[in-house]
Amino acid sequence: MLSNSDPRPAEGLRTIINVSGTMTGLGASIVVPQAVEAVAAFLPHFVEIGDLHRKASAEIAAACGSEAGFVTACAAAGITLSIAGAMTGTDLCAIERLPDATGLKHEVPIQVGHMCHYGAPVEQSIRLAGARPVPVGTSTKSEPYQLAGAINERTAAAIYVVSHHVVDYGQIPLESFAEVCRAKGVPVIVDAASEYDLKGFLAKGADVVVYSAHKFLGGPTAGIVAGRKDLVRAAYLQNNGIGRGMKVGKESVIGTMVALRAWAARDHAAVRRREVGALMLWRERLSRVPGLVATIVPDPTDNPLDRLEVRVDPAAAGCAAWDLADALAAGDPPVIVRDHEVERGLFFLDPCNLHPGQEAVVANRIEETCRRAADGGVARTTLAERKARRLAGLLAWPD
Ligand SMILES: *Cc1c(COP(=O)(O)O)cnc(C)c1O
Repeated sequence: MLSNSDPRPAEGLRTIINVSGTMTGLGASIVVPQAVEAVAAFLPHFVEIGDLHRKASAEIAAACGSEAGFVTACAAAGITLSIAGAMTGTDLCAIERLPDATGLKHEVPIQVGHMCHYGAPVEQSIRLAGARPVPVGTSTKSEPYQLAGAINERTAAAIYVVSHHVVDYGQIPLESFAEVCRAKGVPVIVDAASEYDLKGFLAKGADVVVYSAHKFLGGPTAGIVAGRKDLVRAAYLQNNGIGRGMKVGKESVIGTMVALRAWAARDHAAVRRREVGALMLWRERLSRVPGLVATIVPDPTDNPLDRLEVRVDPAAAGCAAWDLADALAAGDPPVIVRDHEVERGLFFLDPCNLHPGQEAVVANRIEETCRRAADGGVARTTLAERKARRLAGLLAWPD
């Protein structure tokens, strides 16, 4: 545990335990020590930023099997800047004119089933460049002919999203998507923000792929853009234009470079064993709690990561899945579960952001909260009430 050096209480912040995943709203991930040290070492020094980005390009290229790469403020910024680059190329006048896209190719096909919300709508990342999203197909069925039909002389690039947020059936496979686009000379930009696979999407035909540095990599808040050199260069040049408002500093660039190195050197099997240990402990402990059914489930996009799915039978447990999630988040220490599908009567426990020993604390908290629920001690609310409560809380910030 971090109790000795935990700076949160002094700032009046709650000492949350994150079993939700890598969430921006929770501070993303545990930054790996190598990146923490590199950031601290670089902060007091000046660097020639273009050179630092040049070094990062080589590092990203090696890690992703790409021609070039650069570090952005985050993956969402990487999407916007990649699209902007596909629109302007190296035309500095056009770069300074965006988001006014007059005279530029500006249409960006995206499958309707990929038009997700990762904390903001992906289509807004497209529109921020001055481009216009062109929906392809329907939510649960998109076909290559529909993609081909959406491409014309105004098409700047096409976007493909790989994520648990997107519809997981009826979509065009990336290989077919890239084949259609390649035949028409349209670059394919893949949003793979949360995907562990650094090489696979380029290998399947993507021209550019975008990752978050602050998710699985355990880097500082940043994004990685990797791919074809001409497209990466054009995206990088947006730093002279709309990219200015998405600026990344030296600390994020060096922190991302070092996080990539740490990822390459990481003992992934040992991390997996620790995560599986937590899952087994939770499953064993929760299987004895009335009203809960706990199952280990694989990651929906095949990242090498399992989670514990916890189904809550409200009649037997004494409250609904969302009430249990809220009671856990309100407790001491607060435990934040993965609750984006909670209306289905379940939540998940994600083991990838635990400090040693926290898995037992999580099990204890769930057992004790369920005992309280069984005695009628956990407020029962409807899903509509819960949504209204959350919205009111958001709109009342900073109160
Ligand atoms: C997290 C996420 C993003 C946003 O990433 P940031 O780096 O936080 O901007 C974009 N797309 C997908 C699919 C994501 O999961």
